[in-house]
Amino acid sequence: KFISFEGPDGAGKTSVLKAILERLEPALGTKLLITREPGGNQNAIAEAIRDLVLSPDYPEMDSRTEALLYAAARRQHVVQTIQPALAADKVIISDRYLDSSIAYQGGGRELGVANIEQINAFATQGLQPEATIYLDLAPEVGLERIQAHRQGEINRLDVEALAFHQRVTDAYHQLIAQTPDRFWVIDASQPLDAVIADAWDAMQEILAS
Ligand code: C5P
Ligand code: MG
Repeated sequence: KFISFEGPDGAGKTSVLKAILERLEPALGTKLLITREPGGNQNAIAEAIRDLVLSPDYPEMDSRTEALLYAAARRQHVVQTIQPALAADKVIISDRYLDSSIAYQGGGRELGVANIEQINAFATQGLQPEATIYLDLAPEVGLERIQAHRQGEINRLDVEALAFHQRVTDAYHQLIAQTPDRFWVIDASQPLDAVIADAWDAMQEILAS
């Protein structure tokens, strides 16, 4: 099973995923593969692209270059990390996947959804997750949370204003409207415990299906 986690910055994806994984690991053990984008579990190439594409050191990076780098990282992630795990019948949980490019590069960077779909069709050869847990949060709230609890390293996204984040969430919502069956939408404006509880319920349903 291939499951992705998606959502705008500030939705609490990192904390929710951590809680879910702590509960899943005892049951699934080596059947569970946790991975992420940009980058990927045990994937030096994709992680090197992550460092490049998220670095604040290259403000000159063109948006199309950015989109192609995400697609290139995704290609290596699919081939080297996801496909072998699928073949071994593992449960793969990816912290972000293609939907993030639709939202951030297609919407946020205004490259257009069709262009992002096109380069990613080449990169993924159509591989999509069976289910996607989406942490839904208004961009105003997300931005406020990022600014209030900024932690870890600064990345390229940190300079983006509300309009950017609004385009990201709009693109996510369009995607959900187009393929509602793939999405489990969680209200991420709730207290963290409630978000975790809802995400856990969704995960149980997905694993049982
Ligand atoms: O999910 P995580 O917070 O680790 O993502 C790192 C950063 O990369 C975030 O700021 C996210 O918004 C950004 N990103 C992006 N385009 C993608 C995937 C992630 O701008 N396709
Ligand atoms: Mg984050």
